[in-house]
This record gives sequence, C-alpha cells and structure tokens, in this order.
Amino acid sequence: MAKGTGKDVPAIMSERPRQRPAQTLRSVDALVAAGLVPASRRSALDAVAKRYTVALTPDVVAQMDPSDPTDPIARQYVPDEAELRTTPDERSDPIGDDAHSPVKGVVHRYPDRVLLKPILVCPVYCRFCFRREVVGHGKSLSEAEIEAALDYVRAHPEIYEVILTGGDPLMLAPRRLASLIRAIEAIPHVSVIRVHSRVPVADPARISPALVKALAAKKALYLAIHCNHPRELGEAAKAACLKLGKAGIALFGQTVLLKGINDQAETLDGLFRAMLAARIKPYYLHQADLAPGTSHFRTTIEEGQALMRALRGRLTGLALPTYVLDIPDGYGKVPVGPEYLSSGPGGAKELRDPRGEIHPYPPPKPYVAR
Ligand code: SF4
Repeated sequence: MAKGTGKDVPAIMSERPRQRPAQTLRSVDALVAAGLVPASRRSALDAVAKRYTVALTPDVVAQMDPSDPTDPIARQYVPDEAELRTTPDERSDPIGDDAHSPVKGVVHRYPDRVLLKPILVCPVYCRFCFRREVVGHGKSLSEAEIEAALDYVRAHPEIYEVILTGGDPLMLAPRRLASLIRAIEAIPHVSVIRVHSRVPVADPARISPALVKALAAKKALYLAIHCNHPRELGEAAKAACLKLGKAGIALFGQTVLLKGINDQAETLDGLFRAMLAARIKPYYLHQADLAPGTSHFRTTIEEGQALMRALRGRLTGLALPTYVLDIPDGYGKVPVGPEYLSSGPGGAKELRDPRGEIHPYPPPKPYVAR
C-alpha cells in the first residue's frame, strides 16, 4: 500500500542505496545501478524505456523516500510495466495539438493565444505526460523553424499571449531563450508571455543568473511551474522560486491530479500551501489526460470534485486552483469542479456551503419605497 494514500498501487522500488546520483539517470541500467528498480525487472522496463523516454535528475532522486515502496515522487518518474497497457480511450495526441497546428511548433487553438513549442526536451520525463509520444524523442525546432513560428505570430494581430511550452523551454540555453523572448516581446500586439516548466522543481540549479536574466522580460511574463507533491518544493526549489520572483517574474502553479501520488486532501492541502509560501499561485489542478499507457494514474472526475470540495473552506481561496479538464481531441479546457449553486423555488438560487448546508439567495427585486 502507498504510504499516506490508502490506495492499492503497485510497488516500484526495491531496497536501494540512498545516494544522490552525480548526474541525470537516463536508462534502466542506471536505475538498477542506483537501486531504484530491481535487476529482475530490467528487461520488462527496457521495453517501456524504448517507447517512452526516461530521465531522473539528481534532485528528483534526492526527493524520494527510500523506505516507501510506493513513493509518490518515484512513481512520477520511474518507469512501470503498466505503461505498456494502452486502453481503447487513450490517444497519442490527447488534447488535439496536431489539429490546431498551422506551422511546425505552433498550436493556435484559441483566437487570442498560441502555444510555441521550441524544444521537445525535458529535465525529467514524467510517466503520465500528455505529450509523451513526442517529448524526449521528437525533434526540437531549428532556427529557421523558430523564425517561421515567430512570423506566424507577427502576422496574426489577434494574438495577445504567447505560451512557450514543449518539452520544457527552460532547457534551452539561456542565450537562445533570451533571443526567443526578446523576439516575442518585440511583437507589438503580444502583451503577455507565458512559459511552462518543470525545471524549478526538477533541476533548480539550472535557474542561473543568466537564465533569470533571459526571463526578465519588458512585457508581463508568467512562469507556470509544474509541481505535484509538497516534497517537490524543497529548499533548492524554493530558493530558485525566490530568485525568479525577485526578478519580477510572476509564478503560478499547475498540478496534475494523480492516483496514488496526490489524490488525498491532506497531500493537496500541503502542496497548495507549500506553493503559496514559495510565491507560486496555484492556478490549475488538471484532470489527467488520456495519454497512452497512463490509466493507472487517472482518478475519476467525481474523486477530483470530492477533493476540491474537501479543500474549499479549509484552504485560503488564494491557494485553491481551478480543477480543469482538457476536452479530448482539442475542444479546449473547461472547469470540472464541484457545483455550489442550484435552483430553488420561485426563481431563487440555493448555495451549498463548505459544510454541505444549503442556503437561499433571492433574485433581484424592484425597490419599493415604504
Ligand atoms: S516536464 Fe512536462 S512535458 Fe516534460 S515529461 Fe513532464 S509533463 Fe511532459
């Protein structure tokens, strides 16, 4: 059983030495040598690693608890045989990026914003990743392709926000990242730049002065930090967030709801409090997408709603993200959180408070002088 989750999830780790590896672990052999998986699973896990890239930074290995066979950090990164089981509902492009891609590396799903994916490399490879079919083995954009993507943004004055994602854009060399951000901020109709990254929690030493300088844009720049468990926000990650915050970069958080990892109210409570204390505003809690070989990570939407209900009233509103689902095949993101409002008698509304009690709220009535 997973510690602190009460869920029956498969054990993935054996007895192992607890040493911080000197470098990123990129193969099943390296995981066996580090004691993260037993040698008896080598050939089965080699088949997984052949299909979906593996990488664990020294920081994420150091976050793991060696005494817990179903450690919530390890389960996010250590490959599992279950990844080779694809269910009929799962698809290689779960949120429909390809259908909305007018130019290589650009996704234009909503009128006023585009995704720009300059790089398909990540510091770690999450086992539940919604882009797992492309990250780690797809080709990143060439200089000419980046210029073509920028030309697309320049030619569309309706684009208000450019979202750099990938892969992880903070894996670009600071010089390349700076040149990309300077080019975007020079486009007059773009007002907001957003960057999505796992680097501050997975490889915080990468948040160097040069990288912070690259991100310090003249226009509003928001950095979305992907973080799923309170243990991911250790001292080094918090120090990285502080450096980014001091440079005027607004931080917000995105979390994926994952079975056996963070699907307990206590875990999410701890995570959202830790994020807020690290100056990261929790923004989205994502229902897991239908990525291939990830059904063992998915909760039901009802479970997610029950968690959000348990957190409302217990956490400051500042710490509460919106629970969302990307409708499969590219129809956009919608909130799927619990409802608190229903219709009562005579056009009145009824509201459910965090304890579950119902209260009326009347419709507007004309003023009558007495
Ligand atoms: S960091 Fe993001 S894009 Fe990269 S593997 Fe993890 S979820 Fe996927």
